[in-house]
Amino acid sequence: MECTLCNSTNQELIFKDVKDLEYETYKPVDFLICTRCGLISQHPLPEQNEIPTFYPFDYRNYLPEKNNLFSNLKKIQFKSLTSRITKYITNKEANILEIGFGNGQLLLSLKENGYDNLYGTDFTDRVFPTLKDRGIQLQISNVEKSIPFNTKFEVIIMNNVIEHFIDPITVLTNCKKSLTKNGCIILITPNSNALEFKLFKTCWAGFHAPRHIFLFNNKNIKMLGDKLGFSKINVESMTDPGQISISIQNIFQNLKLTKTKLKNGMSWYLTPLSILCAPIALAENTIGKSTSMMCVLKN
Ligand SMILES: [Zn+2]
Repeated sequence: MECTLCNSTNQELIFKDVKDLEYETYKPVDFLICTRCGLISQHPLPEQNEIPTFYPFDYRNYLPEKNNLFSNLKKIQFKSLTSRITKYITNKEANILEIGFGNGQLLLSLKENGYDNLYGTDFTDRVFPTLKDRGIQLQISNVEKSIPFNTKFEVIIMNNVIEHFIDPITVLTNCKKSLTKNGCIILITPNSNALEFKLFKTCWAGFHAPRHIFLFNNKNIKMLGDKLGFSKINVESMTDPGQISISIQNIFQNLKLTKTKLKNGMSWYLTPLSILCAPIALAENTIGKSTSMMCVLKN
């Protein structure tokens, strides 16, 4: 086995039988770590035709917005994400593409902030009706094959998406070809150098098994950017209290005694737990050890 990122053949089994504790869609999976660059990868890689079965109909990211506490917290999160992303967009006419837009909250938030040239692609058409009339151009596609729009983008966003692909290098190569000269790719993805990874191990929300296939860290994501010829790579820590609460929920779901029925992969206590975890998430962010990171890869 050769590492996808650094080509080293020194790979060790890091975790065996990591379960899908959120949706119970698939058998437990194993993960390898590259001892040279630290890239964590599912082993064996799933077959392409198995991947759609990992996303059940009640998958959280495809839920329409509701007027409940969970949705309102999500709204706050997307508002803050929008302001972090728009720092990298020079004008309101810029072409912006989101790959894996889920329920479309980020695209809609960009729309509300006056950005009009918005594009989205996802592998399923589940959420298209709610976004149809907002003037956002949408396509179903697998970006491992190609980007489905014949235009150049100033910004391509993947919010917790790159870790879901079997071939993230081809995805980023395809994206790079679709960038303008000064364009950039913004990735939000789990950071395996996070404190929570060390603490929660196989219950770490970052595994999201079997849906997460490659897990990067704040160092090897820079190697990846260099390898693909990006001129500048910037990595920032991202606060996400939801991730700590999912890790805790995973621990409870893994125990027979505390196992409860989940709705959309969430327990009744998940949202209040996220609020309680917010100060911890902020502290982790201060020391740069958050579960999530934001990487900006400049063309
Ligand atoms: Zn490696």
